[in-house]
Amino acid sequence: MRYQTLSIQTQREAPNNARTQVFAFLVRGGYLTRDNQPTKLGKHTLAHLENLAADLGDSLFSKSSIPVIGDKKDTFFSLDTETHELIHCPTCGYTARSEAALFAKDPSSKEEPLPIEKVATPECSTIEELANFLNISKEKTAKAPLYTRQSDGKLLFAVIRSDMQISEAKLQAQVGELKPAVLDEIEAAGAVPGYAAPIDLIDVFIIVDDLITDSPNLVAGANEFGYHLKNVNYGRDYTADIAADLVQAAVGSACSFCGNSLSTTSADLLDSKEGYHFDKILHTLVETHHDENGLTIPHPATPFDVYLIQRP
Ligand SMILES: [Zn+2]
Repeated sequence: MRYQTLSIQTQREAPNNARTQVFAFLVRGGYLTRDNQPTKLGKHTLAHLENLAADLGDSLFSKSSIPVIGDKKDTFFSLDTETHELIHCPTCGYTARSEAALFAKDPSSKEEPLPIEKVATPECSTIEELANFLNISKEKTAKAPLYTRQSDGKLLFAVIRSDMQISEAKLQAQVGELKPAVLDEIEAAGAVPGYAAPIDLIDVFIIVDDLITDSPNLVAGANEFGYHLKNVNYGRDYTADIAADLVQAAVGSACSFCGNSLSTTSADLLDSKEGYHFDKILHTLVETHHDENGLTIPHPATPFDVYLIQRP
């Protein structure tokens, strides 16, 4: 395509409705209309980026001088205004989607398994109330979100420590698609909602967070309304079909790779298993390559090679 045939119209002023500096640059440079639609130049540039990605593959971002974070599965550009919240290690650079991020779990202190004991726990409908009533920390209790597996309709009993949050993404990566279990299914397995324990149940699939196998003497439900069991021990009192990482990393969790504290960052997704997001890549190019006069998009990401020749 010839530069001339694009009839590029640049604008002197930023549009009144410019929500972001990047949008203003793209309108002024003639890549977007004021209604946020790509112009001929915009479409040509996106097509150029697509060809470039086919040629350069993984080196697209380094060749275009875009500082990315993440890994080959998910490549991000860190940007405060964006909505993808990521877990990020400021020390070693590890970055992942919150629901999939790894972290180093702190094993509970070693204790000898104590005899299991059924205790009345009246009016303890939340983990906080239970922990207060028994005068223990939340780490000493287990909770069990209940699901139904879509593929075979089986009740799925996931056991995690109560001081952590389940990651349904990690869980589904282990067992496939899920939906929340309904009361009939829970009761058919012999469990009681709010007081469920993975002990003596009928035809259920049990999956535990890998920290549970290392957490002795936990409090769990007694499968009876108003009662809990103290000193429930994995291996002695029940076992699981799968033990795997099932919980979410949080701010302050230890990085799996360097041990320092994780934090969060927000970012734009540029590349994932679904493919490149070229409109986001163009935005990132503009965000990272401009000066007071306008865009300074680096070669080879520029839509045209322009040679200026001075006539004699
Ligand atoms: Zn780290």
